[in-house]
Amino acid sequence: MEYIHIPYIEGDGSGDDIWNASKGVFEEAVRKAYKGEKSIKWIHLLAGQKALNKEGKLLPDETLETVKKHRVAIKGPLTTPVGGGFRSVNVYLRQVFDLYVSMRPVRYFHGLPSPLKMPEKVDFIIFRENTEDLYKGIEWEAGTEEALSFIGFLKDKMGVAISEDSGVGVKPISKGRTARFTRWVIDYAIKNKRKAITVVHKGNIMKYTEGAFMKWAYDVAKGYPEHIIFDKSDTEDETKILFNDRIADNMFMQVILRPEDYDLLLCPNLNGDYLSDACAALIGGLGVAPGANIGDDVAIFEPTHGSAPKYAGKDVINPVSFMLSGAMMFRHMGLFDASSLIENAIEETVQDKIVTYDLARHLEGVIPVRCSVFGEEVVKRIEKNMPN
Ligand code: NAP
Repeated sequence: MEYIHIPYIEGDGSGDDIWNASKGVFEEAVRKAYKGEKSIKWIHLLAGQKALNKEGKLLPDETLETVKKHRVAIKGPLTTPVGGGFRSVNVYLRQVFDLYVSMRPVRYFHGLPSPLKMPEKVDFIIFRENTEDLYKGIEWEAGTEEALSFIGFLKDKMGVAISEDSGVGVKPISKGRTARFTRWVIDYAIKNKRKAITVVHKGNIMKYTEGAFMKWAYDVAKGYPEHIIFDKSDTEDETKILFNDRIADNMFMQVILRPEDYDLLLCPNLNGDYLSDACAALIGGLGVAPGANIGDDVAIFEPTHGSAPKYAGKDVINPVSFMLSGAMMFRHMGLFDASSLIENAIEETVQDKIVTYDLARHLEGVIPVRCSVFGEEVVKRIEKNMPN
């Protein structure tokens, strides 16, 4: 028997519910895919509110060391208590492990409710630079000494006047980090035979941050003449990846009206964050939107949604986003059969109209099942399916 060690953080709020429903799904997928020759050994770690309650720290050293050692982890959503000493535990985790790529696939599964007429055309991945931009957390409250000093500096040294009662923030986007991120996504596109990469930016207004992000991304892409084309009419080789860009506001319209034209979206941090929740709505909502935060050494897999505290402990929340994040983790670890078993079983369960409240409310005549029941139904389907 080969044991696969996987650290997990079930998370705060509804985290327990989605973990309890998903654990058996992950275990059954591995058992079935590898005929009982592999098995998961879970390593429980604390973070967020639970860690603060038990250990007096939002991110205990043991959590950080264990994730570093195993290089992979799955986590539920975390609540950052006000006054906990962190702006956000999630953002801190991304920064401490330098998880510079956020990857959020947006793929329609048959049976999911969607506001689109042809939702089956939705199949793209939102990549988001995960360490810079306004997420650096450099901002000062209106009226503080720091804010007034910064406003004074802008007035005296830069000749820019802003109102003294303003809060101020800094939006850093660097050439080096943009290039590193772009190379990662291009390498991913080549390896996975993807057809297009679209840079999403608001460079018409923020010329030296988002505009520069676009320019630096193109500069990197020009270094791949074997693999990338910039003009759709250049049909020299159909296997080449089309590299183009869209202004962010237009992109929000494009994903709704022409989703089939898009494949990989390359975004700065903030607009990527907005876009991922908006796109989740096209395929059933936050309850079905998985994600990963990936660096050169460590990768942490987590649903796109937050801790949904109003549903905590009620066993009603949708565990699909967590299950699909686990499927992404297995793929990352080379456990491809286990990953496909999970994805196929979820799709079958949804097609059989076995869904939680968030999907049931958009499907006529469908009575929602509990979070735990959904998990049991997915396990049943994994049991009867064969690996691909
Ligand atoms: P949220 O927890 O994502 O919930 C917002 C709404 O989205 C829910 O009320 C629910 O909508 C729907 N939803 C979210 N997850 C769902 C699921 N699994 N199944 C079905 N519906 C789901 O956002 P929030 O209320 O703004 O944030 C709550 C806390 O989470 C905050 O402390 C925030 O900082 C934190 N957060 C953490 C992460 C992370 O850990 N990565 C990410 C985002 C936010 P309906 O009520 O309409 O059904």
